[in-house]
Amino acid sequence: MRIQTALYGLCLVTCSDPNDAQRVASRSAPVAITAPMEQPPSPVVLVTIDGVRWQDVYASVDESPGFGGGYMPVLRDLVAREGAMLGAPGYGRIDASGPNFVSMPGYTEIFTGQPATCRDNDCGRPEQSTFLEGLASRGAKVAVFASWEKVGDAVAHTTPTFFVSAGRPEGDTQKPFPGGGAYRPDASTMEQSIVYLRESLPDVLVVSLGDTDEYAHAGNVRGYTDALTRADAFIGRINATLATMGERGASTHLFVTTDHGRSQGWSEHGGKYPESGRVWLAAMGPRIASRGFVATRDHHLSDLASTIVAVATNEDATSDGLSELIAR
Ligand SMILES: [Zn+2]
Repeated sequence: MRIQTALYGLCLVTCSDPNDAQRVASRSAPVAITAPMEQPPSPVVLVTIDGVRWQDVYASVDESPGFGGGYMPVLRDLVAREGAMLGAPGYGRIDASGPNFVSMPGYTEIFTGQPATCRDNDCGRPEQSTFLEGLASRGAKVAVFASWEKVGDAVAHTTPTFFVSAGRPEGDTQKPFPGGGAYRPDASTMEQSIVYLRESLPDVLVVSLGDTDEYAHAGNVRGYTDALTRADAFIGRINATLATMGERGASTHLFVTTDHGRSQGWSEHGGKYPESGRVWLAAMGPRIASRGFVATRDHHLSDLASTIVAVATNEDATSDGLSELIAR
């Protein structure tokens, strides 16, 4: 950790890459995060899994035909030992702010820490700066890997100064299935992000998976549940990778959530289906004080950003975040 401190101190004053220095100097001040970090950052990994219902995360609560519920045993097991989970039945709620429960408003809310002003998936970059921009401006090494190309817009209100790999890059010949257009299948997003985590040592890594929502829109129950099972196994791979990374891995926090839920009939989501606003969230790491399903006051996806900043910077959680989860 001492080496990290030195690196951060250096980069904030004179970056080894002159382009980095220029970018730092020309970057506009973020809305809520201005002070350089005084302590070394605690790394954070945030995984989002698109359009996954709370019923499919919390076991045996779903009655729809074709579903057994509880498709995330690896995550559930990790949480039981090392973290907390919000939004389980009987333990309070966490909701997207909506009012249209679709992806871009959901991701915008996650990354800006504010209810989104945008209403659909064509809204482009957010009006407010994001917590990723804020942490990057304080010297954190931020990286984003996303299956859906539009997530690349939601992560920053201007052209990002950090690494973003969203969708398939031009010239990539793999098929976008189960998505279309520039979509990159989750298997590829997962593989690339694991390699980056291990070899490039990001301070903040976002991995945004999307196969679940693609299969759900196609009405493919098996495709959806299998994609969720693979996402769950990926959480296990992240944890196993962190376990090989010494003190850095041990000090890393992991958050897992979704951008929106699904309709009662499962395949849809959006403003017409208020129930699709309900989401879920898992948090793990040394500063997460609670264990297992946690009864909290009701929360929104927007509460996550300040919580991530608090653990990444070793600062106190602000009262508008998930402060009740965090040890001082
Ligand atoms: Zn969708």
